[in-house]
Amino acid sequence: MNNSSVFIISAPSGSGKTTLVERLLQEVPGLHFSVSYTTRAPRGPEQHNREYCFVSREEFREMIAQNRLLEWAEVFGNYYGTATRFLDEARQAGEDLLLDIDVQGAAQVKKVIPDAVSVFILPPSRMELEARLRRRSQDQEDVIQKRLRDATREIQGYGSYDFILVNDDLEQSAERLKAIVTSERLRRSGAQSNESAPLAESCRKENVLSQIQPILASFGGS
Ligand code: ADP
Ligand code: 5GP
Repeated sequence: MNNSSVFIISAPSGSGKTTLVERLLQEVPGLHFSVSYTTRAPRGPEQHNREYCFVSREEFREMIAQNRLLEWAEVFGNYYGTATRFLDEARQAGEDLLLDIDVQGAAQVKKVIPDAVSVFILPPSRMELEARLRRRSQDQEDVIQKRLRDATREIQGYGSYDFILVNDDLEQSAERLKAIVTSERLRRSGAQSNESAPLAESCRKENVLSQIQPILASFGGS
């Protein structure tokens, strides 16, 4: 079995990516989540092999040398990467692969797998992103300020994604993300009818460009 689809999801921290990915995995069957490798230390309740496979920098460099990574990047001073074995496992299980990776990683995957479907999640505004980071109560003030600066940079990468999801109302966003996955699966299977297509297409980048201008402007970009 080698016709698994690859779905890539990226977002600035605090946009609601974890919340939406968890919903997607609960509600849509047949998605194999890739647990990334990282050299950063576990945070809070994070567990090895659940949120990440936590490895040393030496082990990570070894994985690069042995060509065991589909993509990798240095993010915030730490290495992060996707093991190629997750793609093999998804193919063997007849499932699609779901990647939660950054903008640099998404570009690398698109080079190797051009038909990978990429989704960029945007917060409704910089102000709302700041409010969510504070409400999550996970970070100190200096970390929140750093995340906001990083978000401003990461958001500039939205242009290379297929779909843009503005995570305003959570229920609506969860439905839209589900529709993107379902519609893409139906399209690839050659199905005659595709009820998810209109909702999915409403999130295609070309169709949201004017809607996202105020959001980009709130981060000081266009
Ligand atoms: P990320 O994984 O992108 O860093 P999280 O999923 O941890 O973000 O979400 C950040 C915070 O925002 C959490 O407290 C979450 O409950 C909240 N959140 C997520 N989506 C929404 C939404 N649509 N509206 C309001 N709050 C949200
Ligand atoms: P965090 O340390 O907050 O969990 O993640 C920091 C960033 O690293 C996020 O933008 C996340 O998407 C990204 N990331 C997580 N895993 C990977 C990976 O395997 N590859 C790449 N390129 N980025 C990753």
